[in-house]
Amino acid sequence: MLGARIKQGRAAAGLSLRDLAEVVGLSAMAISKYENDQMKPSSETLLRLAKALNVRAEYFFRQPEVELSEVEFRKHSKLSPKDEERALADVREQLERWLELESVVPVSWPKAFVLPPNLPAEVKAYEEIEVVAQLVREHWQLGAGPVRNLVDKMEEEGIKVVLTPHDGGKKFDGLVAKANSHTVVVVGKDWPGDRQRFTLAHELGHLVLHGRLSLELDEERACNRFAGAFLVPEDEATRILGETRSWLEPQELYLLKHEWGLSMNGWLYRAQDLSILNKSAARRHWDFFVQQKEGSTNWREQEPGEAYPRECPRRFDQLVYRALAEELIGESKAAELMSVPLVELRARRRMDATNATGCH
Ligand SMILES: [Zn+2]
Repeated sequence: MLGARIKQGRAAAGLSLRDLAEVVGLSAMAISKYENDQMKPSSETLLRLAKALNVRAEYFFRQPEVELSEVEFRKHSKLSPKDEERALADVREQLERWLELESVVPVSWPKAFVLPPNLPAEVKAYEEIEVVAQLVREHWQLGAGPVRNLVDKMEEEGIKVVLTPHDGGKKFDGLVAKANSHTVVVVGKDWPGDRQRFTLAHELGHLVLHGRLSLELDEERACNRFAGAFLVPEDEATRILGETRSWLEPQELYLLKHEWGLSMNGWLYRAQDLSILNKSAARRHWDFFVQQKEGSTNWREQEPGEAYPRECPRRFDQLVYRALAEELIGESKAAELMSVPLVELRARRRMDATNATGCH
């Protein structure tokens, strides 16, 4: 078991046997023997390994209980096998901390993911997806407005979300997997917020629509429609933009992006999908977006102005503090769960270091 943990930690750090050996001043052969449980490292060596892998020593003794299965990258994954291994090792590591936290928090949380009742058995046209998205919003009691923190909301509804920095330089578009009995959605930690949110909503679309679409509908396109409809409900979109328009100001789209967390391009799709823009009006906008330059690229690829802020989940840390307050765990375990040094945790407890964004 110790060996498997060292190996997993090394994969998560993206180091080869040789790399790790060099950092800790051992031979690659010795590391390999540790990983295969043919040799047991001394406690001093373990500390050096922990330091090199940027984990706390307790990490090596945690039971690896997360089994990832049915891993599916979204279409555009161009991750190398090494990057893929690194991303999955990080996902496993984060999920283990989740499961561990869940086992000590005093609330039954999160609930299991369940589909809303009264979903149509078959969706025969893209327009019908508006209703499906609305049903999910109602089931989740989201009201009509913008979804403020999508990661926390999805987790509350029983979908695990992992934000990983290991996206191989933005080389994948999100991935879904099963971990034990949980559904897991993974997106890049450093992506702009609107991209994270659209990807999360798109993956939610798969969970809701899969097996429900008529043969003539394309699932990817359907999930994009779902994502738009989930982030900005039809009634709100027409209330805000009007029933029909011939031109939308870029500044108008920019303000809406920051209000709703849907990209400017996403708003254009929305206006087109809901026939607020007719075909030729929509084309004028797309042509215009392609002509506008932002740096070396156009507005289709890189939108002007400030990015929408990244998703910053707070629920996990909040639950760790609760468990700490109720003395269900000690400081050392809390630091391990939050993956921060003990001194940092202590500073945060004293409110010397504050971090309300949840991003760290
Ligand atoms: Zn998809």
